[in-house]
Amino acid sequence: MNPAHRPQHMVTRFAPSPTGRLHVGHAWSALMAYDAANATGGAFHLRIEDIDGARSREEHVSGIVEDILWLGIGWDGEMVRQSQRLTLYEDALDRLKAMGLVYPCFCTRADIAASASAPHGPEGPLYPGTCRHLSEAEREAHMAFTPHAWRIDMAKAAGIAGPLHWIDDVQGRIAAAPVLAGDVVLARKDAPTSYHLAATVDDAAMGISFVLRGQDLMAATDIHRLLQALLGLPTPLYRHHRLLLGPDGKRLAKRTQGITLAELREAGVDPGILVRDLRAGVFPVGISLSEP
Ligand code: GLU
Repeated sequence: MNPAHRPQHMVTRFAPSPTGRLHVGHAWSALMAYDAANATGGAFHLRIEDIDGARSREEHVSGIVEDILWLGIGWDGEMVRQSQRLTLYEDALDRLKAMGLVYPCFCTRADIAASASAPHGPEGPLYPGTCRHLSEAEREAHMAFTPHAWRIDMAKAAGIAGPLHWIDDVQGRIAAAPVLAGDVVLARKDAPTSYHLAATVDDAAMGISFVLRGQDLMAATDIHRLLQALLGLPTPLYRHHRLLLGPDGKRLAKRTQGITLAELREAGVDPGILVRDLRAGVFPVGISLSEP
């Protein structure tokens, strides 16, 4: 890629959700971000994405800290916890509300699944737009007593923002196509934000200049790029690395047995050797890389 796009001092982050123990794929991702920061005299941050109150567990937060330290990865500054930054996300949502770009959504998952006409996007069925068509009076009437999420009016927002792109340090310039994701949720029924809004706001607030994450989040970057444009936030450089696959060819998940860092530690694995191997692209037996 064009070296002009590379920040001089890379500020990177590792941003796990505490919904399970970390596995070797997380270790590989975290190491890449840590090494990129160190190689450029930048900074590496640890951010716990714990906005999902139902799935996040305190024991997993301490597990993440234990695992990261076991690998010898230290982070700069305080560990950031999204659950303690909700007002920041609320402020961003308020700005989008004031711009008329979000609307309350009262649909349940079942309502959306039942919509036979729901088109499909990269992440599954797209929201069919039911609540986008409600009148102001209908919204007010529902909002008082019905739990609701906030969705972005994607076509309107993308129209206002105009054509956007972002840079992937391996793949180069990528034209953003956030409309493919439909009217995604920016604040959940059970939380005043969503992954998309919180991650975008935090990457900017933490001065992250290089976001390294799995290729499964490539489509999410289009949405984050749009939110950056709407909220006047800077756009970092991105890299979407390949995912690690288990012996069954499926991507490693927190539920995958035998490959969590805690299990490797208990089995007596030397973290120094594990880290050296991961840096060299050598993975434990049975683990392979997804297609680029
Ligand atoms: N919290 C997300 C995860 O654990 C990562 C989000 C990101 O890196 O932007 O999958």
